[in-house]
Amino acid sequence: MKIPFIMTPGPTQVNERVRAAMAREATNPDLDASFFEFYKASCEKLKKIYNTEEDVLILGGEGILGLEAACASLIEEGDRVLCIDNGIYGKGFGDFAKIYGAEVVFFTGDYRRAIDVEKLEEFLKEDHDFKLATFVHCETPSGLTNPAGEIGELLNKYDILSIVDSVSSLGGEELEVDKWGLDLVISGSQKCISSPPGLTFVSVSKRAWETMENRKTPIASFYANLLIWKNWYRDKLFPYTQLSNNIYGNDVAFDILLEEGDYVKRHKEIAEMVRYSLISAGLELYPIEGHANTVTTILVPEGISFKDIYNTMLDEHNIMIAGAFEDLDGKVFRIGHMGENCYEEKLYITLKALDTTLKSLGADIKGSIHQYFARD
Ligand SMILES: *Cc1c(COP(=O)(O)O)cnc(C)c1O
Repeated sequence: MKIPFIMTPGPTQVNERVRAAMAREATNPDLDASFFEFYKASCEKLKKIYNTEEDVLILGGEGILGLEAACASLIEEGDRVLCIDNGIYGKGFGDFAKIYGAEVVFFTGDYRRAIDVEKLEEFLKEDHDFKLATFVHCETPSGLTNPAGEIGELLNKYDILSIVDSVSSLGGEELEVDKWGLDLVISGSQKCISSPPGLTFVSVSKRAWETMENRKTPIASFYANLLIWKNWYRDKLFPYTQLSNNIYGNDVAFDILLEEGDYVKRHKEIAEMVRYSLISAGLELYPIEGHANTVTTILVPEGISFKDIYNTMLDEHNIMIAGAFEDLDGKVFRIGHMGENCYEEKLYITLKALDTTLKSLGADIKGSIHQYFARD
C-alpha cells in the first residue's frame, strides 16, 4: 500500500521516534507498578504543554471522547449551558450538552471571524445565569482560532465554568490553561501532538472536580465519567485497561515538542508564510479574521471543483490534503500545518504541488505559490 504524504489537519504525520516507541515490548498496564509511574510522568509533560498545575488525564479514546466526557461529567438535567458557536465544532458542542440534559443557549458569532469578545460581553451582561459554557479554541474546519484567553477571563467574571475544545490547538497555539482560568480543556493525540489517533487529553481544574463531586445526580456514563479517574494514582487503579503502547508513543511525541521549546513560534511563522503565499497567488482564505496557526482553509477557486483538486494532489503528487464537511463541503480545501507537518520543507513540497495542480485545472494563479513561500 502506497502511503500518501499526509498534509491534512489531523491525523498528521507521525515521527519515526514515536512509531518506534509504540513498538516497545508491552507490559500489563493494570498490574505493572512501573506503568503507573510512567503514566504519571507523561501527565507531567502534558501539564507543561497545557501550562497548568492542575490535574491532567490521558484517556483511551479519540478527541470526541474527551468532549463528550466533559459534558457528561459536568452537566445535569436542566442545567443552563451557554454554547459559544462560530463553527461546526462549536455548534456540535450544543448537541453533546443536550444529550446530557442541558438547556442550551447559543451565542452564535460570524463563522468567518473569531468570536467577538465585546459582543459576548454585551450578551453576558444581559444573561449570565449559566452553569457552564462551551467553546472551541481552534475551529479546524474553517481554520479559525478564537481568543480563548479573553473568553476564559470573561466567563470567570461571571463564575461560569468552561469546557474548551483545544483538540487542534494544543501544541500549536498559545494555550495558558491556568492563567486563563479554563476548567476542562480537551485535546487529542493526532493533531499538533502528532502521535496516532487513539488518545484524548483533559485538564481538570479544582472547581471542575468539585462540581463533579457535588452533583445531585450520578454521572450517566462509565466510559465518559471523568470522576472515576480522580484518585487513580493514590489507589494505583485505572478505571479500565490503558492503551499502553499508544501512551508510549505519545509520550515521545510530548518529548519532541518539549525538546524544541518554542513550537508555538514555529506554527505561527509557518502559518503566516503559508497564508502570505496563497494570498499573493490570488487565492482567497475562508477566515476573514482570526486565522489559525495550525490549519489553513482556502476557498475553492471559481470554475474548479474540490474533488479535482483533491484527486490531482493525491494521484499526481501523492499528497493528501483535506476538504471540510457540512456547510463547507466542496467549498473549501485545507492544508494542515500542525505538529509534525509544520516544517518549511513539507509546506514547500505541498505548495509546489498545489501550484501545479491549480494551474493544470485552469485556476488563475498569479506567479507561483511555492516561490512566494520560498522567498518570504
Ligand atoms: C479533530 C478534532 C476533534 C476530534 O474529532 P474528529 O472529528 O473525530 O477528528 C474535535 N474537535 C476539533 C476542533 C478537532 O479539530
